[in-house]
Amino acid sequence: MTDLSADKRPSDSSITIPQLDDHQSRPLMAKMVRLLRELGGLKEIERFRQNLRLPQEALRLSRRVFQLYDEYLGYVLKKLRGKGWQVYCVPGCSACCCCMPAGVSNWEFLIIYDHLQQDGQLSRYFRRNLESCQVLARVSGQLFDGWARKGSADKSRYDRLLHNYSLAEHPCAFLDESQKCQIYSVRPLSCRMHFAFTPPELCDPTHPQFAQAVRLSLNPHGDVDEELQKMDSSLNLGISDLLAPGLVSLTANVLRFSPIL
Ligand code: SF4
Ligand code: SF4
Repeated sequence: MTDLSADKRPSDSSITIPQLDDHQSRPLMAKMVRLLRELGGLKEIERFRQNLRLPQEALRLSRRVFQLYDEYLGYVLKKLRGKGWQVYCVPGCSACCCCMPAGVSNWEFLIIYDHLQQDGQLSRYFRRNLESCQVLARVSGQLFDGWARKGSADKSRYDRLLHNYSLAEHPCAFLDESQKCQIYSVRPLSCRMHFAFTPPELCDPTHPQFAQAVRLSLNPHGDVDEELQKMDSSLNLGISDLLAPGLVSLTANVLRFSPIL
């Protein structure tokens, strides 16, 4: 069980707490696992690389998975608030959108790709994500083809890259002028799970007190992660798990700009 005592608030800048695992959160996670299994078992998903087709059933199941995760987050946040934690995140607050979303699964990339394709926005956001890739390349001093994945041995390099990227203060390709996320309904789990318990100005990586801010990642349970990894293995798209380079590679190299019909 997660220790949410207010007098044990951590002081690190970004903290991952163990998942809240109780009688209310467990069934939500179990349903997520079940739906992800169903998704992974869809023949069209398995044959995605050949067919370039995302069936309606996959979209329906995906929407449900996101809903369940949002429900889980709402539940955990309520618990945290009950313990005296103040959550500062509100719609339109977007300093955190200068951080590159990381740990994006293959399934999430397909959902985002499909969403952009259906909206006729793929070319526009391909260009914008390419710009983000150029910023990443600049801060890493390397071509994005060679970027490390989260699970790779060189995790410190991966973390350093993400930190340097956030210092560049380049807004996410999907953030519009009014600070709204243009893929809000299909944004990755990694965007959904972050919350700040200190004022939003401290979320700006260039703020002098950035390191003192309290931010938490409310990750899904391990069995949800396992299902996502299984789907990654079966889809085997071979792309980065960072949002911009992953989407750019998927569009240009894997799908070769082909529509999902
Ligand atoms: S993490 Fe920080 S910048 Fe992002 S929504 Fe929350 S308070 Fe705002
Ligand atoms: S995908 Fe949306 S929520 Fe995530 S970083 Fe980009 S604008 Fe922000």
